[in-house]
Amino acid sequence: MGKEVLWHLFWYGFNCDKVLITAVTTFTAQGKLMANASIERLKELVDPMSLLTALGFSVYYDNQDEIRAPCVLHGGDNKTAFCFRKAVRRFYCYSRGCEVDSSGEINNDIVSLVMKVNRCSFIEAVRFLGQLSGIDVGFGEVCEEDERYAKKRKDTSKFIEGITASSTLEEIDESVVKSYVSNGCSYFINKGIQRHVLDFFEVGTMHDEFGIERATIPIRDDYGRLVSISGRRTDGNEEPRYKLLKNFKKRKVLYGLNAALEYRDAYGGNIILVEGFKALWHVVSCGFPNVAAVMGRVITQDQINLLVKYGFSCAFLLLDGDEKGREGMSRSKELLKGKIDSKFIYLQDNKSPDDLSLVDLFDLISLFF
Ligand SMILES: [Zn+2]
Repeated sequence: MGKEVLWHLFWYGFNCDKVLITAVTTFTAQGKLMANASIERLKELVDPMSLLTALGFSVYYDNQDEIRAPCVLHGGDNKTAFCFRKAVRRFYCYSRGCEVDSSGEINNDIVSLVMKVNRCSFIEAVRFLGQLSGIDVGFGEVCEEDERYAKKRKDTSKFIEGITASSTLEEIDESVVKSYVSNGCSYFINKGIQRHVLDFFEVGTMHDEFGIERATIPIRDDYGRLVSISGRRTDGNEEPRYKLLKNFKKRKVLYGLNAALEYRDAYGGNIILVEGFKALWHVVSCGFPNVAAVMGRVITQDQINLLVKYGFSCAFLLLDGDEKGREGMSRSKELLKGKIDSKFIYLQDNKSPDDLSLVDLFDLISLFF
């Protein structure tokens, strides 16, 4: 058989048999290229609805442009979080950004989707797609070649990531959070924070390398990815009071934003900004989930960019009622100018939000909503 014919058969590769496809790779000097072409073809042939159904998605709607469903990858129940765009045949998760890998790389084509949902290798994903579309992809060698290619691409992107590490937030292991949460957190419960709120924010307890007990506060970025864990010592106020179990760039993250995003529209694009963790939990406890913490007294440029990115219209600054808090509010307002509207919610007598009773705090915030 001529190269031409083989290529033709390969391209329209329905029911191609293993021998034939293996022949293609050995027959031509461009075997590698063809292998990639075949994968591309496979990606085009797969019916998105059948694929999503096979992967366990409960499709919420399906129109000519896109398919929407709750995201199986992170398991949330937002009915439209997951979006498969038909024109580009790629997926997006609007709740958690599940298309973004831990390295910060976006992998959202059909093969990546199967790899992520089934937690399988490249080869297994291609085989799965082949089975689904009735195409025999028994081309072991070709796939292995492709897997090497995929790995190489990944290595390259890791290298690039290394260079640009300053702008990337690293992900840390989720299992650590679970084990800390399983220890409970009596420290903050004794400080009057409601247990269900602590549970929601996955607060737990651990012992550091000096045997000091610390209440653990996982810090997640806007996609919900774990970027650090803050540990607050429970035996007093000696320094270091807080210890980061994983160093990270605080200025790039707004604590609680990933959860607050779910409530952006319900609160007309208004978000409350507080200084720290406890203030945030207290605001949530009194009934306002649209809150994030700047983890400091002044909002940073990166944090403002996050608010702009997610289309918030107004930031309500609820910083501590001391002199530094007042100063932080003025400086933050200055920085927010021209980007997002801002309003002050003043606290009196050097108080912070968590010094107020839930009823008083609710009454205060309600004046603005
Ligand atoms: Zn997701």
